[in-house]
Amino acid sequence: MATEVRVNRRRYLVLAVAIGLGAGACQGGSEGGLGAASCGGESPRLTAADADRFLADVNNTILKLGTESAQAAWVYSTYITPDTEALNARGNQAFIDAVARFAKEAAKYDDVEVSAEQRRQLQLLKLSLELVTPSDPKEAEEVTKIATAMEAMYGRGKWCREPDKPSTCLDIEQITEIMATSRDETQLRDVWEGWHSISIPMRGDYTRFVELANKGARELGFADTGAMWRLKYDMPAEEFTKEVDRLWDQVRPLYVSLHAYVRMKLREKYGDVVPADGPIPAHLLGNIWAQDWGNVFDVVATGSADQGYSLTDILKGRQAAPQEMVRIGERFYSSLGLAPMPDTFWQRSLFVKPADRDVVCHASAWNLDFKDDLRIKMCIDPTEEDFSTIHHELGHNYYQRAYNTLPILFRDSANQAFHEAIGDTIALSVTPEYLVKIGILGQAPDASRDIGLLMARALEKIAFLPFGLVIDQWRWDVFSGKITPADYNSAWWERRTRYQGVAPVTPRGEQLFDPGAKYHVPANYSYTRYFLAHILQFQFHRELSRIAGCTTPLHRCSIYGSEEAGRRLNAMLQMGLSRPWPDALEALTGSRQMDATAIVDYFAPLKAWLDEQLQAQGTKTGW
Ligand SMILES: [Zn+2]
Repeated sequence: MATEVRVNRRRYLVLAVAIGLGAGACQGGSEGGLGAASCGGESPRLTAADADRFLADVNNTILKLGTESAQAAWVYSTYITPDTEALNARGNQAFIDAVARFAKEAAKYDDVEVSAEQRRQLQLLKLSLELVTPSDPKEAEEVTKIATAMEAMYGRGKWCREPDKPSTCLDIEQITEIMATSRDETQLRDVWEGWHSISIPMRGDYTRFVELANKGARELGFADTGAMWRLKYDMPAEEFTKEVDRLWDQVRPLYVSLHAYVRMKLREKYGDVVPADGPIPAHLLGNIWAQDWGNVFDVVATGSADQGYSLTDILKGRQAAPQEMVRIGERFYSSLGLAPMPDTFWQRSLFVKPADRDVVCHASAWNLDFKDDLRIKMCIDPTEEDFSTIHHELGHNYYQRAYNTLPILFRDSANQAFHEAIGDTIALSVTPEYLVKIGILGQAPDASRDIGLLMARALEKIAFLPFGLVIDQWRWDVFSGKITPADYNSAWWERRTRYQGVAPVTPRGEQLFDPGAKYHVPANYSYTRYFLAHILQFQFHRELSRIAGCTTPLHRCSIYGSEEAGRRLNAMLQMGLSRPWPDALEALTGSRQMDATAIVDYFAPLKAWLDEQLQAQGTKTGW
């Protein structure tokens, strides 16, 4: 399953959906850091006391409407009917409208002297938008319609081998399954090209969408929508772009080695369709977007690259019940000194796909009342992947509870990436030694199996890194105008090739719109968070392992049972969004900078092994 699809259904993220600003939003202004939207000049002498009242109203309203919309969304997601769908849409709209009003209102306090805490809340309100609609009501309606239509087009997307025979139509689930399991090059190519045809009709819509979204962002004082997204990271947009480049440069050599090795193995399997030294064909990596290569483990990880045990086989052998798997996850967090989940978590969560009704199986973590009505919703199977996802989702829940006494606007992670990184950090501690300790595995494989363990992780996490970058590298340039509509598709493939070293096997012309075949583009959901979450989780893991006193190689370190590690982790979680993210990072790691050298450390044995293999075969790297 794609790395990021577990993540984006947390309810409070509804703050980040389309926001319509009513008439009268301010004009002009230029991009200049977090306080970019300076346009409150016409307001008559507002004071800090007014700001107090305003923020109290914001907190109360978001709490009330946010809870109501979360309740409606929960019922919808766990019992899909036309009625619950309508209730969910209504609750969501009421909430969005309120936040839209507040975001506009917040700009009026730009010139008012307020406390630092008030200032941060006001700025977060203005930056809580992923899409700002223009003040012109007609244009606002148009961009909202386009956004809805594009997402619906994606959701309904099907490729039909024979268009007049519905039985030949494949949706994204079926496409995903074929991409994962088929080893027939022709079939993979057909399915890949087929799925990429669903986004052709989005092309014109997307062009107009970009124009209108930018207009809205500029009215709020941002240079464009992409710049607005980057400003969420507590630094000027250009600085953030450089920061992301810096992190990528740190991990690129590792990716290049993995890429060359996988290409060599795929060439052994598929022959000349895979070039010896060029980009890898995009349809042969086990995933429709080539963002997670875990599904080709069996093709590339031959010989010594076998991890020595299968957690999936063990879980199936034990007939592990979903609730039992979640209990094991909870016990990990308890071992760090964190309080167990409340009784309501166990009573209200959904762990099993019901037999009698439709549900949204997509895994997600919830906090319905912003306090301690914590739940996860997922259809759990006894597999290693689901076991890992449980730890991921629980990470969201523990984070949500840790910051639940802060003002509502601070009840979120330090930046968008932190929330995604916490549970994954814990999952990195699910080592063979840990599984032995809790009695799931008889004996840990010896160090000779490390390459297999690391290979499995690298195909998922290292392969993802350039993909985590590429979507917003393309979008930032689209929103800024550097990429024009005439070059949408060629610029997309230029970036996919440059970063990922993958390419389509047949020419992709400008009549196509390949970016639209990835959910987050039509859904307008910013993506760099996933790249950063992958960087952060290894940085967290390295530091927590050090605190826990681990002296083995990083990939064998588990922080299970370390209350000191738990204390440091919780110190960061409790800060929520109340401070700029470098403060939170410092609370845990002692450093104010994101650092990808932890990934490099973690995978160092694999990197050495890969380079050895490549050298022995005389295989070139790069593309
Ligand atoms: Zn998540």
